[in-house]
Amino acid sequence: MVNEKSIKEKALELGYEDCGIISISEINDYMEKLNNRIGKFPNTKKYLENFSRFVNLNEGFPWAKSIIICVQKYGKYIIPNNLKNVIAKYYLVDGRINEQSVDFQASIEFETFLNKAGLKTATERKFGLTALRWAAFKAGLGIIRRNNFFYTEKSGSWVYLEAWLIDCDMEMKNNNNSKPCPNNCNKCIKACPTQSLCEPYVMNRSTCVSCLTTWEGWDMSKEPNNHNIGNWIYGCDVCQDACPFNKNKWMENEQFPQLNELAEHISLEKIIEMDYAYLESIISSKFFYIGKNDVYKWKTNALNAMLNNYNENYLPYIKKACNDSNEHVRTMAEWVLEKITVQLSCPRG
Ligand code: SF4
Ligand code: SF4
Repeated sequence: MVNEKSIKEKALELGYEDCGIISISEINDYMEKLNNRIGKFPNTKKYLENFSRFVNLNEGFPWAKSIIICVQKYGKYIIPNNLKNVIAKYYLVDGRINEQSVDFQASIEFETFLNKAGLKTATERKFGLTALRWAAFKAGLGIIRRNNFFYTEKSGSWVYLEAWLIDCDMEMKNNNNSKPCPNNCNKCIKACPTQSLCEPYVMNRSTCVSCLTTWEGWDMSKEPNNHNIGNWIYGCDVCQDACPFNKNKWMENEQFPQLNELAEHISLEKIIEMDYAYLESIISSKFFYIGKNDVYKWKTNALNAMLNNYNENYLPYIKKACNDSNEHVRTMAEWVLEKITVQLSCPRG
């Protein structure tokens, strides 16, 4: 007979760091958090309103009674040097979508175990069916820190969360003993390159580099924060890297499938020359926050990074991009070229 104990044992056996279970009603106060965020940043209302689906789960799943929430550590993989501080680490080792990864396989096996035990389940691996950080916090698996990331004592914020709705009343909570953020700490806020993280627990998604380099940032030449994005071309780890609770928590001791091979294809210069078919098939399927129709953004992001840390080796690539088949890329490249020409003609001006 399956019960809370056997579910947790199975999760740990499959390599999850931890597992908890809460009633689905416990997630409902997430709505208050969401409304507070919308009140602070009304311009993000149209995006944030979508997250109201994360509460009142019985509307979509009338049979659901509890939420199983599992913590999976990703801060264990070797990150290729050339991709550090260019692509956010999570997206390089994203076990939600790489079917060959042990993390993905553990997820499938865990769900099979639940189903074989007679539980009805629902999950959504890419975006989650509910507010994952809030659910994990409610289950006592860790805490949400001032940079809004979920942390466990063992792995810091280098974890991702998976949730399953189940049709059975269960509860399994930990006594979370994580120390809170020190009163005087604001390292994450100070480090944020765009001031998107403007106060504790408050992040403006419209100015966050993670958003600007993926699903937002439609015209990088007109983006007011383009010069603050630095080298990043997909995501941003700055507010996590700056946090003392992440110090020495990333252990580079496992290989993520196909990551080294992929890394050989990625550099700012290689992206400028990258074939659109490759961007649409290989790159877009791994880094799914830039969809197939928007893969030109990889090139406009690379051009922006070239401008932000310009060296003369980039010049032929920027010129080449002026003849790219995509109009957005041509426009961006011409703008970058113009900026560089001005910079070079008055270097201190
Ligand atoms: S991910 Fe980067 S831009 Fe976004 S809040 Fe954190 S430091 Fe700021
Ligand atoms: S940097 Fe400081 S304030 Fe920010 S999340 Fe870490 S401990 Fe908390």
